[in-house]
Amino acid sequence: MKSKSIALVCIAIFACANVAFSQKISGSKKQEIIRSKNDLKYSSPKWRKENYIVNRDSAFANPYYAIQKLQGGNRRFVEGRSIYPRQDAALIKKLAEGQSPFALIVGCSDSRVSAEILFDQGFGDLFVTRTAGQVMTDASYGTIEYADLMLKTKLIVVLGHTNCGAVKAAVEHPDNLPGHISQLIHSIKRAADTAAVMKGNVLDNAIRLNVINQVEELRNLDPVLKKNYNDGKILIIGAVYDLQNGKVSYLDETLKNLPKSTYSQRKIAGL
Ligand SMILES: [Zn+2]
Repeated sequence: MKSKSIALVCIAIFACANVAFSQKISGSKKQEIIRSKNDLKYSSPKWRKENYIVNRDSAFANPYYAIQKLQGGNRRFVEGRSIYPRQDAALIKKLAEGQSPFALIVGCSDSRVSAEILFDQGFGDLFVTRTAGQVMTDASYGTIEYADLMLKTKLIVVLGHTNCGAVKAAVEHPDNLPGHISQLIHSIKRAADTAAVMKGNVLDNAIRLNVINQVEELRNLDPVLKKNYNDGKILIIGAVYDLQNGKVSYLDETLKNLPKSTYSQRKIAGL
């Protein structure tokens, strides 16, 4: 009787293992089919147009295409149609060999402003530095210069955002800020002081001015960025992300009077 029970248990275990194995096989086959269907879908010109896809190599080679690639990704994100590109295991393995990010984002540490998500980009696409109020220090400068010189990233975007706590603190200038926070907030003081005497919403103006000041800061940063920017080899622009609707708006003040570029310039439409 006992040996009969053992035999039955063994058969049951064997059957379960078989089902699991066949499920695994059919699961991976299914994934393969989905992947090949996706490959076809992603390479279709119609699909690429509908999803505002800009060729990645072109975006890496030309900062004007890079802006369009970021714009396309943000449009998908705003429309709730993110495609979450370049996040599969094969690509992660390939990227272990090296990276060529097509844009550098200087953003705020705020947990609601994650560059890869709001621009709907993947691994290896964006080189990112983040501090509160995107305030920059020597370490930030070195990081940005590294991306320019070593990685050959040609587009730098300073990305502020609405309702930024760091800028708000600079506008409200509370007394006795603890630790290093007072130094950080002091870096935003110029924008806050100018905004205080401007028409309109003081915080919104301070956020915009802070981005514009930071773009200027990088454009005048010796010895690397200033030269490459003035020679038209890199592009440094500013934008503000809206926490309410997810939209990134580029600041006109940072798009005018750009130095003569070494890249063919396509019209930057609808910025
Ligand atoms: Zn912020």
